[in-house]
Amino acid sequence: MPAGEVHNIFTDIVDRAKALDPANARKWFDDLSVLDFDGGSIDIGCPDESNVRYLDENCRSSFTRAAQQITGHLVTVDFVVGSGGKMIAPEPAGRVGPALHPDYTFVNFVVGPSNRLAHASCVAISQSLGETYNPLFLYGTAGLGKTHLLHAVCHEIQRRLDGAVIQLLSCEDFVNRFIRAIEQGNITGFHSQFRTVDALVIDDIQFLREREQSQEEFFHTFNALYNSGKQIILSADSPPNEIPSLEARLISRFNWGLVARVDPPSYETRIAIVQKKAHLRGLEINDEIAEYIARQVQANIRELEGALTTIYALATTLKEPVTLELAQTALEGQIKLATRHISISDIIDVVTQHFDVRLTDLQSKRRSQSITVPRQICMYLARRLTKHSLEEIGGHLGGRDHTTVMHACSKIADAQEGDPKMQALLTELTKQVTQAQQA
Ligand code: ADP
Ligand code: MG
Repeated sequence: MPAGEVHNIFTDIVDRAKALDPANARKWFDDLSVLDFDGGSIDIGCPDESNVRYLDENCRSSFTRAAQQITGHLVTVDFVVGSGGKMIAPEPAGRVGPALHPDYTFVNFVVGPSNRLAHASCVAISQSLGETYNPLFLYGTAGLGKTHLLHAVCHEIQRRLDGAVIQLLSCEDFVNRFIRAIEQGNITGFHSQFRTVDALVIDDIQFLREREQSQEEFFHTFNALYNSGKQIILSADSPPNEIPSLEARLISRFNWGLVARVDPPSYETRIAIVQKKAHLRGLEINDEIAEYIARQVQANIRELEGALTTIYALATTLKEPVTLELAQTALEGQIKLATRHISISDIIDVVTQHFDVRLTDLQSKRRSQSITVPRQICMYLARRLTKHSLEEIGGHLGGRDHTTVMHACSKIADAQEGDPKMQALLTELTKQVTQAQQA
């Protein structure tokens, strides 16, 4: 197949994958390329390892479905690092970098009064490792960007210092790896993993509370690194002296460097964050809607992002443009959702009423059109509007397995593409389910 044609097919696949799963779509998908396309499988080249990991974890099924729909063949997809038609050989085992989120960079971080100090100290550290603030201790409540900043430092170190060894992990991981090392009698291996790095970055260090033996181990790790001028960065949900049952000698060490608090963002910062997140996903968002979201969600940036996702998911499902009115419908539903999520029963209620069938029919083995269509629509809507797994959805509908649910979802998705009546029906049912939510 000529290269131009492969390129066009690939562009269509990426567009379709974005449409199938808008919440996980990112603007950098435009930087992906085809490395190999032999009809049965497609190797997709990604800018770096963090993009590969993101796609593997979040987008495998949307890309596979998109590729199958566009090519009309049962192709599989693989994500690898590479560009310009060439794959870049994977890092040899043991030299793999930390698992970084591709979105969590300094460029994608909005700086405001609430996080200025934390941000500035992270930038300073990434420019002169071990020399400015050591350790750096970031703290603040959940969803304010601590993990984002830790990843950003690591991205930046990797970019500036080729070959720098970084360990970035959650405290829980640290503790689990320590326990495993003891069980396997390989404490030396554990030491060499953590005491020989250029930077040790541990997220949610409050997890050390009440873990005496791990605190002891961490104390020695800390000393070894600190004494050889290696960088230590920690995050927690509270300042060192407020972490319950943390040994005094650790509290004092955590205070040796810089302790920076991250506060909830101001209204202006929240608007800028919403705009940044929309931009990352390649979405157009007008000021009115960004301001509306920033007013609705105040305390937690993760929820700000969730609001954006909800609005765009509703717009995609309804196939309507994002207007203030639609944003309101979506979020007011979501605010209620905070106390009560859309459940599979809400969906089943709406669907059984519309088709005038009984739940027991949907759960039965009957395979007549009048039953299979409403059953598949229930599965499709449950997949779109709830967070339930394929297994759970199948469980509510007569104990069907996940492949049946997956099949039903693609069947309905495909049906609506070519059928305006099906489209209108799904729009109507979605409205009814979300409105039932707000009642
Ligand atoms: P924490 O670790 O403090 O609980 P996270 O780092 O996981 O919070 O942040 C939650 C979400 O909010 C992430 O998607 C992150 O990208 C986003 N976020 C937080 N602060 C900012 C910011 N200042 N600019 C852009 N995104 C942010
Ligand atoms: Mg975090």
